[in-house]
Amino acid sequence: MKIRKLKADRLFTGEDFAPDDFVLIADASGKILDLVPGDYAGEDIEQHDGILVPGWINAHCHLELSHMAGQIPEKTGMVPFLLAVMQHRVDRIARQEIAMQQADEAMYAEGIVAVGDICNSADTVGVKQNSRIRYHNFIETSGFVPAGAATRFAAAKNILGAFGGQSQTAIVPHAPYSVSPELFRMIFEEYTQLSTMHNQESEAENDFFREGNGPFRDLFAAIGVSLDFFQAPQQNSLPAVAPLLQAARQLILVHNTVTAPEDILALQEQAPQTALYWCLCPLANEYITGTLPPIDLFRNRQLNICLGTDSLASNYRLSIAETVGFLEQRFPQIPQPEILHWATLGGAKALQLEHAFGSFGKGKSPGIVCYQAGVSKRIL
Ligand SMILES: [Zn+2]
Repeated sequence: MKIRKLKADRLFTGEDFAPDDFVLIADASGKILDLVPGDYAGEDIEQHDGILVPGWINAHCHLELSHMAGQIPEKTGMVPFLLAVMQHRVDRIARQEIAMQQADEAMYAEGIVAVGDICNSADTVGVKQNSRIRYHNFIETSGFVPAGAATRFAAAKNILGAFGGQSQTAIVPHAPYSVSPELFRMIFEEYTQLSTMHNQESEAENDFFREGNGPFRDLFAAIGVSLDFFQAPQQNSLPAVAPLLQAARQLILVHNTVTAPEDILALQEQAPQTALYWCLCPLANEYITGTLPPIDLFRNRQLNICLGTDSLASNYRLSIAETVGFLEQRFPQIPQPEILHWATLGGAKALQLEHAFGSFGKGKSPGIVCYQAGVSKRIL
């Protein structure tokens, strides 16, 4: 089998830059054979421009919304965005299948090897069966009215059933403001290994939990849900639901745009056994609200960070390379290897795939990608 010897301006292992001059050796299928100093690599070394990195991990995506590219105007704020997504789900048309296929292929071409994908339907089953990307399917359920919990849970189980043989599949809660305590309990009675939840995507979410009013009350009114049963817990959304999350062994919290230090502390105290991952989708935040998460807070607390794209309803491309490039520009104080780690090994750990992906460990087939200034292409 032909051996590939690869070199670039720099080589990022998943943890850090390798010393200058190191060469990555892989077989033709992409399996990593070695990482050696140039003097030991012999001849026929391919030289690439940019940085060699392991395949990207997109820890948060909604492939099924791919047909909504360009459908929702930018910076509407959170609640108008949610209403527009609900309306477009109803308007779904045949081009969805083609759009999902194209989005899957675009992710593969830029070097994404694994995706944590939110599913509100079984629409993506066919595309995923033929995909070269590893998908972890999170069947998302919601239902804020406690009496509806059993019905909602049963519906999610139906969707999960449609994914049949696709093994990495679990039912997960949508967000603090859309899942009743009863529904949280049903989910975490069965699906504890790896979960995920949209968290604190807007100040309106915290307002709703602190005061019981604001745009989220209007959202429920708009979709005809009576909130007679709801008593605002008078704290931010994350601490309010923290006791309900403690059964999860691992949890990826997504967006965290308005998460405060005391919210993190409350969750760590309430769910001490839960491995927490904080997924940032900054390009989607830019699109919907224009507010970015407090990244330095997560860094200073040495929290586990990973990156996601969210969907084409709220992002122009499902690109981790572009997300990395955006973070490099907006946060020049963050060392580049740190951001690359979030996009590779950090994401692989978040999706419990570090045995296969995320770094150039011998014997792994993590994908080999060449990255430069917000753009990347797959080499192997
Ligand atoms: Zn999302």
